[in-house]
Amino acid sequence: MLFDVLTLFPDVIYSYCNESIVGRGQAKNALSVRAHDFRIFSDNKWGHVDDKSYGGGPGMVLQVEPIYECLKSIGAIKQLKQSKQKVIVLDPAGKKFDQRMAEKFSKLDRLVLIAGRYEGFDARVYKLADERVSVGDYVLAGGELPALTIIEAVARLLPGVLGNTESLKEETFNPALYPSPNRGGARGGVLKSLKEYPQYTRPEDFMGQKVPKVLLSGDHKKIADWRKGKSK
Ligand code: SAM
Repeated sequence: MLFDVLTLFPDVIYSYCNESIVGRGQAKNALSVRAHDFRIFSDNKWGHVDDKSYGGGPGMVLQVEPIYECLKSIGAIKQLKQSKQKVIVLDPAGKKFDQRMAEKFSKLDRLVLIAGRYEGFDARVYKLADERVSVGDYVLAGGELPALTIIEAVARLLPGVLGNTESLKEETFNPALYPSPNRGGARGGVLKSLKEYPQYTRPEDFMGQKVPKVLLSGDHKKIADWRKGKSK
């Protein structure tokens, strides 16, 4: 899968994505991350890609043209798009990102993420995208951390990225375990309240806090029942 990030800070994207799980995923050719500095599409000698808001107001607004030109340069203009790719604008007012959305994105061949800065985007930028996505009800200074959040959550679901895919099966929010209402799941619609069971490793006793006895029992059925109870 290919991730393209439009950003004014490409090094932020590369430095994170070259490490750990996303870095290993790239080394295994399971995914690829490219960052595109849309400042190079500025139409002025100062490299500005922002301007004052029409009608007044504080701060600067990102212009539509550099973003349009950047999308065009990577073949991601909406009209040219194929069905297995999506263009996302990162926006605190967008649809809330969750594990179900990560699952959906992981089926694509390509995800293009547009990271804003300053006061955000000229409203016409949204027309270049399929969706506006937020990573939560708070405002960050830029879209780079939201882009990295989405990349990592999606990358973990791609075949060949995690060393041990078993860990995905019993994970918090796993839609396979907890089907959505549209898939007819009895427990659909409660995604937010589901979590993985508690886990322990050595030592058995940490300052008086002991590992539950059942986990030391070697009784797989009892352990499975205990875990099931704890993850509800
Ligand atoms: N003025 C905007 C507003 O009130 O919604 C906030 C702009 S924010 C300072 C700059 C950029 O950071 C946004 O355009 C967006 O790309 C990104 N951003 C900030 N918080 C975000 C969030 N919770 N989810 C997704 N993107 C976010």
